[in-house]
Amino acid sequence: MTTRTPVQLITVILQDFPLNFELDAVNLVLLDSDGEWAHALGPDILSALEAAGLMLDNDLDGYAKFYPQPFRPYLAAYQATQHLALFDGSMVSLGSMALLPLVRQGRLMGGLHLASRDRHRFVTNDGTYFLERLSAFFVMCLENALIYDKLERFGLVDALTQVNNRHYFNLRLREAANHALRCREPLVAVMFDLDHFKTVNDRWGHQIGDYVLQQVVQVIGALLRGSDTFARYGGEEFIALLPGTDKRVAVDIAERIRLAIADYPFSVGEAESIHLSVSIGVAQIVLGAAYGSEEQAAKQLVAAADAALYSAKAQGRNRVMVSV
Ligand code: GH3
Ligand code: MG
Ligand code: MG
Repeated sequence: MTTRTPVQLITVILQDFPLNFELDAVNLVLLDSDGEWAHALGPDILSALEAAGLMLDNDLDGYAKFYPQPFRPYLAAYQATQHLALFDGSMVSLGSMALLPLVRQGRLMGGLHLASRDRHRFVTNDGTYFLERLSAFFVMCLENALIYDKLERFGLVDALTQVNNRHYFNLRLREAANHALRCREPLVAVMFDLDHFKTVNDRWGHQIGDYVLQQVVQVIGALLRGSDTFARYGGEEFIALLPGTDKRVAVDIAERIRLAIADYPFSVGEAESIHLSVSIGVAQIVLGAAYGSEEQAAKQLVAAADAALYSAKAQGRNRVMVSV
């Protein structure tokens, strides 16, 4: 099961956790001051999840006092007189608990509360490093789930290929350009345009053409990293943003993608496949260059990748060209 959406992720935490880790109570509290979580879940699912241990709150003052400062996991014996509010509705009498504050950039955004009947299950300060890493991982997952929900809602996902669309790419590009210039880290854009794609439509029809585009996305996506941003830029044009990668490494990656596309048997029918090729342009943000603004840096980066792509086409296609 993938845990892409908020509902899937919270369900895994509240339903699978107790079973997989033999816990007797699991509660998840999330800060929801702007109503984003409530909106992402919808009223019916929200009330089902609330019954399973989810609490949305518009401030976490009531919980913050249970977590040690600076925020870190807290393992302790369960005391009904003090901790009842944390495990409200638990059917069994609890013995010990682990409280995991969920913190993002120093700000408390929620808490995951685990409890067991066993008084020795969670012992003060036992193995908190692992739990700290686990909390950080949850924070990332929760954020990604919320972001994914927003992307879908705001139409930032391409309907045909399910990758990000150009609008999303441009948003990410500005952030990435800002980060690259501020932290003096390399940033590469790689632009792809399928060669003679029109002939695929002409020969096999538009629907098969669409199906081939979906396969192209799989082939390219498999060779990119999770930290890269990959988007459909237009019809049969795609673009990738590789943060923290320098031009030479990016050219290697681009070359691997070019070969993978050239080798791949794209299915166009039950037992028929075709071969395609792709032209690729690579460009890197120039650190230390005097760009007027991050917007300008971003624009120039894409323009340079586009120009490199154009020269790959001009020189015969099925090749990778690098902007000078
Ligand atoms: P080259 O890039 O090598 O110059 O040739 P090309 O035939 O790929 O070039 P061009 O950019 O002129 O045409 C792109 C074609 O891609 C036009 C259109 O038929 C096809 N195309 C664009 N978007 C889609 C789409 O969403 N689905 C399908 N099936 N085809 C598309
Ligand atoms: Mg094109
Ligand atoms: Mg093309």
